[in-house]
Amino acid sequence: MKKWVYFFGAGKAEGDGEWRDLLGGKGAGLAEMTKIGLPVPAGFTISTETCDHFYKNGKKYPADLKKQVLANVARLEKVTKKKLGDPNNPLLVSVRSGSARSMPGMMETILNLGLNDKSVQGLARVTNNERFAYDAYRRFVQMYCTVVMGMSKEDLEHRLRAMKQRLGVKEDTAVSAEGWKELVAEYKAYFQEKNGSPFPEDPMEQLWGAVGAVFGSWMAEKAVTYRRVEKITGLLGTAVNVMQMVFGNTGDNSGTGVCFTRDPSSGEKIFYGDYLSNAQGEDVVAGIRTPVHLSELSKLMPKVYGQLEKARVKLEKHYRDMQDMEFTVEEGVLYMLQTRTGKRTPAATFEIAMDMANEKLITKEEAVLRIKPEDIERLLYPVIDAKVDKKTLTSKILAYGIDAVPGAAVGRVRFSAPEAEEAAKRGEKVILVRRETSPEDVGGMAVAQGILTATGGKTSHAAVVARGWGKCCIVGAETLNIDYKTQTMKDGKSGKVVKEGDWLTLDGSEGIVYVGEEPLVTPEFPKAYQTIMKWADEIRRMRVRTNADTPQDARKAIELGAEGIGLCRTEHMFFTDFEYPEKSHERQRAIQEMIVAETKEARVKALDKLLPFQRRDFVGIFQAMDGFPVTIRLIDPPLHEFVPHEREKQAELAKELGIPVETVARRVEQLHEANPMLGHRGCRLSITYPEILEMQVRAIIEAAIECHKGRVKVLPEIMIPLTLDKKELGILDQATRAVADKLIKEAGIKLPYMVGTMIELPRAALLANEIAEVAEFFSLGTNDLTQTTMGLSRDDAGRFLPDYVDEKKAGVFAGDPFQTLDTKGVGLLMRWGVQKGRETRPKLKVGICGEHGGDAESVKFCHEIGMDYVSASPFRVPISRLAAAQVVVEEKIKAKKKRK
Ligand code: PEP
Ligand code: MG
Repeated sequence: MKKWVYFFGAGKAEGDGEWRDLLGGKGAGLAEMTKIGLPVPAGFTISTETCDHFYKNGKKYPADLKKQVLANVARLEKVTKKKLGDPNNPLLVSVRSGSARSMPGMMETILNLGLNDKSVQGLARVTNNERFAYDAYRRFVQMYCTVVMGMSKEDLEHRLRAMKQRLGVKEDTAVSAEGWKELVAEYKAYFQEKNGSPFPEDPMEQLWGAVGAVFGSWMAEKAVTYRRVEKITGLLGTAVNVMQMVFGNTGDNSGTGVCFTRDPSSGEKIFYGDYLSNAQGEDVVAGIRTPVHLSELSKLMPKVYGQLEKARVKLEKHYRDMQDMEFTVEEGVLYMLQTRTGKRTPAATFEIAMDMANEKLITKEEAVLRIKPEDIERLLYPVIDAKVDKKTLTSKILAYGIDAVPGAAVGRVRFSAPEAEEAAKRGEKVILVRRETSPEDVGGMAVAQGILTATGGKTSHAAVVARGWGKCCIVGAETLNIDYKTQTMKDGKSGKVVKEGDWLTLDGSEGIVYVGEEPLVTPEFPKAYQTIMKWADEIRRMRVRTNADTPQDARKAIELGAEGIGLCRTEHMFFTDFEYPEKSHERQRAIQEMIVAETKEARVKALDKLLPFQRRDFVGIFQAMDGFPVTIRLIDPPLHEFVPHEREKQAELAKELGIPVETVARRVEQLHEANPMLGHRGCRLSITYPEILEMQVRAIIEAAIECHKGRVKVLPEIMIPLTLDKKELGILDQATRAVADKLIKEAGIKLPYMVGTMIELPRAALLANEIAEVAEFFSLGTNDLTQTTMGLSRDDAGRFLPDYVDEKKAGVFAGDPFQTLDTKGVGLLMRWGVQKGRETRPKLKVGICGEHGGDAESVKFCHEIGMDYVSASPFRVPISRLAAAQVVVEEKIKAKKKRK
């Protein structure tokens, strides 16, 4: 017979702290505390496997569960020497949820179960406290109504308030036994009215109701959302913990508290917590009365405090992590009710990990494993001040979108890039709101505090560009109806309307848009951050580079630990001059002149104008990278992205270039493609217009020569995008080398450089052995590789991908494949590409420059398939450094387990 229920009590437990997957964190903690001799009330845990069975079998329990629960109730009654429902001395229990990963406040709890009209009298007699007994009863009925029956909390609270008013009392503590009796009767009548049946008196019926509610809460909307946001996957479900009740509200000799083995805000090694005398746990949570600091307990009850301090040491030593403990004191006797790994601020996460490693409680490797990517993220970006009232904040929600770049931003709404730039010039803080963005918007995006788009996914233009700058960005807020004409937007769901110039607050970490202006705070880098990152750097094998297109970004990335550039998208330089913004227009005109040119000569003339700009950018980047390798990619996007599509702007361009507007319009028309992402882009452009390649290679090599002469070490790697065939690459490789070698020869210096390619099409990955005959390095462009392998548009899939990752809808993918690599499909091609490439060229340098290079899980996969480096946008560099170290440690642990 399969075991579904596990007992703990009287110093023994069926399980221990390691059994989190089966017993949930709470159940495992209770078992462990029981085993190590801490005072824990007895009880039993219904396993997470039961929850799994429940959902896999149309919400039915396993056949033998009933029998096992009954046997455990009997055992509990024996240990406690009390009986459920006993009219003289009743056993009362709490019923609580608890999955393998802590989900605070997400699931349900029911206290004082076992009370009914008879047993409450028994409780009153044994405690000699009628008021206490009926208070416990009304709490139970209230919780049962709301949690098990789903009745409105407010309806019940309303009755409680009315009763207090009738009695003329303010505090719950002032309500008499009679008052509570009255309220229980009222609640029960309301129960009957709502459900058509009387409130269950039978404790076993109550217990099954509570168990069902806990299992039900696993799939409640808020729990599902929490798991999605926290990326919690692969759990069986929740366990149910049934435990003997102890009471902190029997008088001044009793109380309840929560404590942390270290300070969860700063990480400091102090015993930290709150204590509330004469209260039950929920009173602490509800915040009705203000608790005292834990240190007060040492004066009030020195013996209990001493015991608690011992439990603190024992538990931390055992779990080797900061613990968050709940306890109750009943008539001067301490009971431990829960221990779990405590939630902490990002700063405390670093501090505690570092301190524990220094104390030799954990190893440095474990300390590195303790950091989550979000901990780093939250250190880097501003966030909405935690002091802001959550309820008020919720009422200001305008819309939800996709959390493209974390952090928060506040500003006034501007619906176009030029207006955003104008407003920023006036010193205004701007949120740029667009249906979607294109390279033309980059200027406006650069000056904005944050960016919001109604369409797009995590690799859309807006997301990629904003990520590079570490700028808060929400994309795919599909319910927003943006009307450029009236300069307003209306949310289809909330109905709220926002006009140009209105204040908006974006929370890019959650993908939530708020109306109004909220206060933001930027956390400081704690010292422990530097220490732990140093440890990570010592552990990792892979190098970490950055995707950067400007000297500014390159410098920022170096500050954050980048060791070179893995992708410099040269086309971003065509639009904006980040060093001299007033020259941006000149650049734009030069590229547009090149595109509308009808002859090669005219094109070359325009390209000559672009050359000095590009060269200057490259010099800046080489200088910032001072000896680190720099991969520069030749032009990639389809040319239509660079020319205006509105007649008005075409006329402006024609006037400036001194050509008829018809010529411009005709050229734009010619460039139109039904499917530009699969069209004339990438290296196909350089096959058609070799002069573009020639200009770019000239700019790169001339810049390198200039730096070389100025004693700046340079390692240029020229990269051809979207290659699909060896012959194609061969033509471009030769063209590149012809220009580069000639310039280097003329300069009379020795300048090593490399020519390689991106692998971002399935064909290129499949034929990697052939491609590697030409390419000296590969960089995996997993944005396009994901798009072309899956046949999902990176710009549009954001519209339906949420359904694909939603557990309750399709649940096809665990996450957005444009964010976290689809290792099964796309990963297969990657693995093949690396392997085949190295069969031809054993020392082939391989990296990744798609957005996945900044995603922890994907970075780990890159390590596994033997890549030399990953490249991430500057603000994600620390995350990649950390993940590259974590995977090394995880591999070691796996190998060790295997040996055993
Ligand atoms: C890619 O496709 O992964 C890539 C890095 O190129 P881009 O995003 O510029 O298309
Ligand atoms: Mg690409």
